[in-house]
Amino acid sequence: MAYRSVGAPIVGGGAAAAACAEALHEGGFGGGVLLAGREPDPPYERPPASKAYLAGKQDRDACLFHDAAWYAKRSIELAPRTSVMRLDTSARTATLSTKEVVEFGVALVATGANVRRLRVDGAQLQGIHYLRALGNADAIRADALEADRIVLVGGSYIACEVAATLTALGRRCTMVMLEDAPLSAHFGPTAGAFFGALLRSHGVELVCGDGLERLEGDEGVERVVTASGRELEADMVVMGTGAMPDVMLARAAGLELGERGGVACSADLETSARGIWAAGDMCEYDSVLHGGRVRIEHFEVACAQGAAVAAAMLGTRRPYSELPYFWTDLSDWCTAEWVGITEAPEREIVRGSVEDGSFSVLHVARGRLVAALSVGRGEDLAHARRLIAAATDLSGREDALAAGDLEAL
Ligand SMILES: Cc1cc2nc3c(=O)[nH]c(=O)nc-3n(C[C@H](O)[C@H](O)[C@H](O)COP(=O)(O)OP(=O)(O)OC[C@H]3O[C@@H](n4cnc5c(N)ncnc54)[C@H](O)[C@@H]3O)c2cc1C
Repeated sequence: MAYRSVGAPIVGGGAAAAACAEALHEGGFGGGVLLAGREPDPPYERPPASKAYLAGKQDRDACLFHDAAWYAKRSIELAPRTSVMRLDTSARTATLSTKEVVEFGVALVATGANVRRLRVDGAQLQGIHYLRALGNADAIRADALEADRIVLVGGSYIACEVAATLTALGRRCTMVMLEDAPLSAHFGPTAGAFFGALLRSHGVELVCGDGLERLEGDEGVERVVTASGRELEADMVVMGTGAMPDVMLARAAGLELGERGGVACSADLETSARGIWAAGDMCEYDSVLHGGRVRIEHFEVACAQGAAVAAAMLGTRRPYSELPYFWTDLSDWCTAEWVGITEAPEREIVRGSVEDGSFSVLHVARGRLVAALSVGRGEDLAHARRLIAAATDLSGREDALAAGDLEAL
């Protein structure tokens, strides 16, 4: 074992880690930064893996936050293909897969999430894919170019985006989902009906309100059988069945875990161990905005939390209170943007025209705006951000929300 000292090791080579390293550098952190990530590439953006990268329209380098030379120039020690095997919160050491032991002052744990694998009969067959990393996208694209029939399991954004991308590449796609409509679980029934109609209009077959029962085939997958007994021919299957926070390292280190499966953090994202912070998909923090613990799997949130942790390490600690933002692209057919706090809405209020594909859905609970989804109406989103963040009382003003000037509210 080789011992050495680093001011701030950053564990995980994803969005949160990259944002933290960059913000530490910009803030003049003096103690030395080590960015250790398990994957072979420098930190990269995952969203293109289901969109332009999968479509073959964006190359690998264009997905990187920065190339290796960028980190070297800023004296950020980049260690790809390097796992942090052990974190000792008392001795304040991190043990790397390179057999080095790193003593530290402060640390960020940003180990992200892993795909949620379904254990069904036939799950081991060839031609069944999950998508988290660029390498997975390479494998999906290679198989898809040979496949005639592709089945996607799930009704959330990964399955929808991959179905759209592969359909645009000329493949025949069928989606199987528990939901009544794609994306409805997060965005509500009006948006779900819109996305369902959009996918169908481009030739995607939708099997809604039905689950995956088993996968059949000899060596490779040939058939998807649903819970209702429907049989769908398939040359390949892409599972869009969600993600699970990766808390292996954190659990072994004795960090407190939360009810949502993440690492329990204070309002300013510190874990139960002093001077060790968390950010991104695995961070379950006490949100002043939501009024309780939340864990959010959005790209912009991971970046913003990474930067917030850097600020805390540099001495500016404040509750993390950015309003969550998310976007999804279904090929070049449509981009939808969403802001909000996840709370069961009482009412959906629609602005614009769903039929024309230019609309916003405002979600209202207890007289306040709690979320907004927008397709082609960015100005609505900007006003929604303000109204949600200020928790403006909008009781009795539903007409103005539907058709009035949001700026006036
Ligand atoms: C295909 C895809 C498309 C997406 N599209 C969108 C989108 O359109 N809009 C949106 O808002 N969000 C999108 N997301 C979600 C967004 O990309 C994630 O929320 C974000 O990447 C989370 O960043 P993170 O840094 O928390 O984790 P990750 O990006 O998962 O990075 C964590 C890294 O840590 C590494 N690691 C784990 N344990 C260790 C260890 N012990 N030692 C070293 N390294 C370790 C992992 O290998 C991984 O590389 C998408 C996600 C995927 C997978």
